[in-house]
Amino acid sequence: MARRKIIAGNWKMNMTPTEAVELINTLKPLVATEDADVVFCVPAIDIIPAVEAAKGSNIQIGAENMYFEEKGAYTGEISPAMLTDAGVKYVVLGHSERREYFAETSETVNKKMLKAFEHGITPIMCCGETLTQREQGVTMDFIRQQVKVGFQGVTKEQAAVAVIAYEPIWAIGTGKTATTEQAQEVCKGIRECIAQIYDQATADAIRIQYGGSVNAATAPELFAQPDIDGGLVGGAALKPDFGKIVNWK
Ligand code: PEP
Repeated sequence: MARRKIIAGNWKMNMTPTEAVELINTLKPLVATEDADVVFCVPAIDIIPAVEAAKGSNIQIGAENMYFEEKGAYTGEISPAMLTDAGVKYVVLGHSERREYFAETSETVNKKMLKAFEHGITPIMCCGETLTQREQGVTMDFIRQQVKVGFQGVTKEQAAVAVIAYEPIWAIGTGKTATTEQAQEVCKGIRECIAQIYDQATADAIRIQYGGSVNAATAPELFAQPDIDGGLVGGAALKPDFGKIVNWK
C-alpha cells in the first residue's frame, strides 16, 4: 500500500498569534490538496487561534514540543491533555534545536513519544547527524541509536502510525539541502532500522520525512524518492512557497 505523504511546517519561534492567523488565512488556499496530510506545527501560544483559523480547511495543527507528565508542578511546560483539548493532532519531538539548546535527549524524547501515543497525538520524531558525524562516517550508527532509544516501549501498532523526520543538522536553516541521494539513503536506513526493531509491515507503514532547507525547487525530487514520505519544513513554511512544496507534484 502506498504511503500517504505528510508535509509539515515547523514555525519554530516565529509568528505572534495575530500573525499566525494572517499566515494561515494566506496559506489556506495555497496548501489545499487531497494528496497529502498538511500539518502546521506552531508555537504553543498560537495553537488555539491557529486551530480556529484552520477550521474547514485541510490544515491540521501540531505542536513543537510537549512535556511527558500528565500535569503538576512543571512551570512553563505544556501537557498532552492541553494539546488534545486545544485540537492538536501532531507534535514535533526531539528537534535538533531542542536537543542542542534545551537539553533534550533521546531518553526524554522516548518518554514524550510514549505519552503522545497514550493521548492519541502523532509524534513527528526528529533525528539527524552533525556535519562532524557525517564526515566521520558514523551517520547511520548515530541515527539508529536515536531511533532505537526514541522508540523504546513503543508498540508496533503505534510505530506504524508514527512519523520520523530525518534532519541532518548541517542542513537545517543553512540553505544547504542534503543531496537527494544522501536523503534517500538515510531515510532507507531508518526504514531498515524500524524493520529490525519491529517487522517489515511496520517499516512499510511508518512515514519518514526529510527536513533541512527544503524549498519549492528541491521538494519535487526529494519527495519522489521511494523512502521519503514528505518533509518537515522550517523557513519555507512561513512563505507562500509552502503552497508549492505541498503541491510538489
Ligand atoms: C526545521 O525547522 O525542522 C527545518 C528543517 O528548518 P529549515 O527548513 O529552515 O532548514
